[in-house]
Amino acid sequence: MISINGLHKQFGDLEVLKGIDLQVNKGQVIVVIGPSGSGKTTLLRCLNILEVPTAGSITIDEQTADFSKTVNKRTVDLLRRESAMVFQHYNLFPHMTALQNVMEGPVIVKKMSKTDARAKAEQLLNKVGLGDKLDFYPHQLSGGQQQRVGIARALALEPKVMLFDEPTSALDPELVGEVLQVMKDLASEGITMVVVTHEMRFANDVANEVIFMDQGRIIERSKPIDMFTRPKEERTRQFLNLIQ
Ligand code: ADP
Repeated sequence: MISINGLHKQFGDLEVLKGIDLQVNKGQVIVVIGPSGSGKTTLLRCLNILEVPTAGSITIDEQTADFSKTVNKRTVDLLRRESAMVFQHYNLFPHMTALQNVMEGPVIVKKMSKTDARAKAEQLLNKVGLGDKLDFYPHQLSGGQQQRVGIARALALEPKVMLFDEPTSALDPELVGEVLQVMKDLASEGITMVVVTHEMRFANDVANEVIFMDQGRIIERSKPIDMFTRPKEERTRQFLNLIQ
């Protein structure tokens, strides 16, 4: 479902991704861990082309872009539509209700009629347990509820791949569980997911594989049990010791 080859990203002189190679099968849940500044967010943003990679190629489903060559806008648009992102700080439109936030993508990006988009948004907000909050504005919702709207909004784009960038790290501890539960439900439905998170329980319970990144490279990729109980690399061991 995802194939990343030789991906590089540079900000000025700073090389943040130094040649990432990663293949993800359909339905897999991949959790990405690693120290702050190792390039995890940049990798997700490159997958959604919120950042344009400096070199390398990305394929999602049937769409490919090779950033080592000049890439035209249509190719970028088609590739971008294959994934949808859930952000750490939700990034909801503050002046729109939950329902309007979820309708926006289908209406603007997919040119869906408002009637159909409304029905779809209602169905998705029901799915994330917010069927009774359709007309609430973000400021009237808890962080956990806002993030569940964020997930519904991403799902409304019907992406092949869901990307989660530390979706629970801005939440009060008691609200983390409700968001992780929605993500677990999605995983059990077979949605392909790439998740940057520090929630090791989630990684252990849900991930097919865990990737450890450091300084712009993938250092290690293993099944959660192997990563957490017998990491192969010293750097992984040091990182896990710090956070566990
Ligand atoms: P992580 O998610 O692992 O914490 P990031 O991908 O956010 O790491 O950042 C990796 C590095 O790239 C950091 O040194 C960060 O300061 C730098 N960086 C990220 N985005 C930008 C940007 N837009 N401009 C310049 N530097 C950036």
